[in-house]
Amino acid sequence: MVDDRDASAIVRLENVSHVYGSTGRGLRSRRDRSVTALRDVSVTVREGEVVGLRGPSGSGKSTILHAITGLLVPTEGSVELCGTDLAAVSGGERTRLRRRHVGIVFQRFHLLPSLSARANVALPLVQEGVPRSHRRERATTLLERVGLEDRVTHLPGELSGGERQRVAIARALSTDPDVLVADEPTGELDTETGTDVLELLTDIGRDRAVVVASHDNSTLAVADRVVTLRDGRVIEDGR
Ligand code: ADP
Ligand code: MG
Repeated sequence: MVDDRDASAIVRLENVSHVYGSTGRGLRSRRDRSVTALRDVSVTVREGEVVGLRGPSGSGKSTILHAITGLLVPTEGSVELCGTDLAAVSGGERTRLRRRHVGIVFQRFHLLPSLSARANVALPLVQEGVPRSHRRERATTLLERVGLEDRVTHLPGELSGGERQRVAIARALSTDPDVLVADEPTGELDTETGTDVLELLTDIGRDRAVVVASHDNSTLAVADRVVTLRDGRVIEDGR
């Protein structure tokens, strides 16, 4: 067996279970609204890998992505991000680790409508204290990287869905993360535009790591590995 503890592991989930709305008191009343979203999930994502998460709606894909970002601390098991156990550090430290190591791409882009493409891409760098001229330069380079060099000053409302998602990907890359997590990134796009966005994501994956969740099989054709979930459980992890 290959040793799982190799240095190239960017993300490692070990025996992760998560119950939403758990009172933590064990006893279940009739009004208990708790939902078990993940059951004993173990997944490792290494440098240079594009890993797809597949499964029907409600199978736990988004919960895994939230756990990788540290926005959610699962009720059981461990999530390591670049060697740090996210449950073992403070909330402030988790935020710092997320900003340093993770880029996030959402289904609905989440761009600020009043800011240009370039200003949207540069926004995470404001928090990092990067000087304005450097921010502009980096944002422009990233927009070139995603093929939008001639849309730099456009507002999100002036861009197509595919272009908006490219801006969102450029923004996710602004802080030079080790892993990009993308939750249904093609969910709002037509098939052809979605394919372009996925090719871009896999290109990017070669320099870092990408975890992409989708219920759509065509999305996952680009992945190096696909993890299949059913009811919060991994039922397959392979090529
Ligand atoms: P997917 O992304 O595969 O559609 P999710 O990870 O969003 O699945 O959800 C897994 C399960 O957890 C579902 O049954 C869902 O209803 C439940 N769930 C997700 N988020 C919450 C939440 N904030 N509170 C309670 N239950 C939730
Ligand atoms: Mg989801």
